[in-house]
Amino acid sequence: MSAIEVLQRVYGYSEFRGEQAAIVDAAIAGRDALVLMPTGGGKSVCYQIPSLVRPGVGVVVSPLIALMSDQVAALRQLGVRAAYLNSTLDYQEASDVEAQLRAGQLDLLYLAPERLLMPRTLELLAELRLALIAIDEAHCVSQWGHDFRPEYLGLATLADRFPGVPRMALTATADVPTRDEITQRLALHDPQRFVASFDRPNIRYRVSERANAKQQLLRFLQKEHPGDAGVVYCLSRKKVEATAEWLRDEGFDAVPYHAGLGAERRAANQSRFLREDGVVVVATIAFGMGIDKPDVRFVAHLDLPGSVEAYYQETGRAGRDGEPADAWMLYGLGDVVQRRQMIDSGEAEDGRKRIERSKLDAMLGYCELDTCRRQPLLRYFGETLEQACGNCDNCLWPPDTDDATQSARQALSAVYRTGQRFGVSYLVDHLLGKRDERASRFGHDQLSTFGIGQELTADRWRRLFRQLIARGHLDVDVGGFGGLHLTKSARGLLKGEQSIRVRRKAAAPAGSSRRARAPQASLAPGDEALFERLRAWRKDEADEQGVPAYVVFHDATLRDIAREKPADDASLAAISGVSAKRLERYGAAILELIAAPA
Ligand code: ADP
Ligand code: ZN
Repeated sequence: MSAIEVLQRVYGYSEFRGEQAAIVDAAIAGRDALVLMPTGGGKSVCYQIPSLVRPGVGVVVSPLIALMSDQVAALRQLGVRAAYLNSTLDYQEASDVEAQLRAGQLDLLYLAPERLLMPRTLELLAELRLALIAIDEAHCVSQWGHDFRPEYLGLATLADRFPGVPRMALTATADVPTRDEITQRLALHDPQRFVASFDRPNIRYRVSERANAKQQLLRFLQKEHPGDAGVVYCLSRKKVEATAEWLRDEGFDAVPYHAGLGAERRAANQSRFLREDGVVVVATIAFGMGIDKPDVRFVAHLDLPGSVEAYYQETGRAGRDGEPADAWMLYGLGDVVQRRQMIDSGEAEDGRKRIERSKLDAMLGYCELDTCRRQPLLRYFGETLEQACGNCDNCLWPPDTDDATQSARQALSAVYRTGQRFGVSYLVDHLLGKRDERASRFGHDQLSTFGIGQELTADRWRRLFRQLIARGHLDVDVGGFGGLHLTKSARGLLKGEQSIRVRRKAAAPAGSSRRARAPQASLAPGDEALFERLRAWRKDEADEQGVPAYVVFHDATLRDIAREKPADDASLAAISGVSAKRLERYGAAILELIAAPA
């Protein structure tokens, strides 16, 4: 079968998305590849299809042992011969998988890196024909990243051990240094690089200032997400526990998740979230990597994340199925103080702390935006979005703003005249005309910008600087001392060709009634009832098989079925997500449900 035939028959999808086809082709042709795609972009297909098309078994390396059995269950639903080897299998089970491998009866094998690198496993694999080696969550090889796994460093050996086998490294972590580090540390040979767009158009970004966090969250959940699955992120374990308990009291099916819970409770709560409909996980950042539940409808942040990258990864867990989803966040200046203290009292060396402080400032700048939020988010990942997105709070409900062009020009001039190497604090002091030792040593107190900005408070200046950074007029030298320099776009502002407006006060409190649910997801009332019956049927089916509900069918597929109401096999098969195996297995039951009177 060709790649597209596999996609259509085995997966039930009509066409490849974005770069998928090119990635699949590169692997089938035997090339190494580096694949950067946002969460939900569709990475799995990229290595699974070449594994099916090329002779031999595809080996998938993943650090996420807890999720392997669900991944394998999902593949088996499609009729793919998949298995995993990890420490959760007993001796007999592992021997069975090995026997299947030797007999050439498997298309895909999932392994944790430590298992793969055991001499016994390497010897076994050396006897086999390998279609491909996929290294998922490849950013775990980066020592500077937050997900570093020392075992990943050992994977470089695969280059020598399996010279003819194409290797594919995949990650959703986007920054440029990490990309190079992955290529080098995994010893990829001249990999073809694929960088998908990191835009997630179905996610609606919203940020509000914290007033009464509990009431704000409650309104958001009750009005917009009753019965939906979602994640609520909090900074501390204590807050996680308290919030989960309070949500349960309010009638939500909420469970806590943080590193301080025993491994067993953690696994149980994660598994409930994955398997059941409508569970809300309240969690620290310990929760999330690899969670491939497609129907997470919201990610709420009750505390400010440490960086825009972290925020984007966390919010990216919403809406992997492409259906409308919310990234909803509350922030307050208290967060900033708390985060700063965490950084200051941390163990890191000074240079590192400086980087973390500027990342925090960028995050705060993002919160305070009064323009499209998606544009600066994507700029973070090196992408340009020309038009405002139309699907963030500022696009949908533009806030009140004031013209700040004059002050912005003063700020940019101050940056320029002091030599484009000082950080925000120094520049604010400069604008306010505070005399200190450095100002006189450098002769900065003689400049025309010295003391020019006394009509604004230090706070307002800081806010303005954050906006200038967030909007790309100023750039922070994070590798050095956090000094600011002008970018090309600053020129237009300085020359008076461009103006800038900033939010009058902080973002309006969340939860007012205008924030209705996005229209695409809604169904006509009669269809909604059918959708609910399909979901109930799916739950029984999933329980019986002991797999998560989404492994049987995604919400998006059930919703299409409810809308289209196919009357025969052929029209059912035409719906995206209805694969050949699913049609064979569930077709009759579904057609019966559609035909039955409600
Ligand atoms: P990632 O691993 O990149 O986060 P997944 O591989 O889990 O993403 O895919 C995200 C979702 O998109 C899944 O529900 C998957 O079934 C779906 N998907 C992937 N490729 C396609 C496609 N070509 N057409 C339709 N849906 C797709
Ligand atoms: Zn927008």
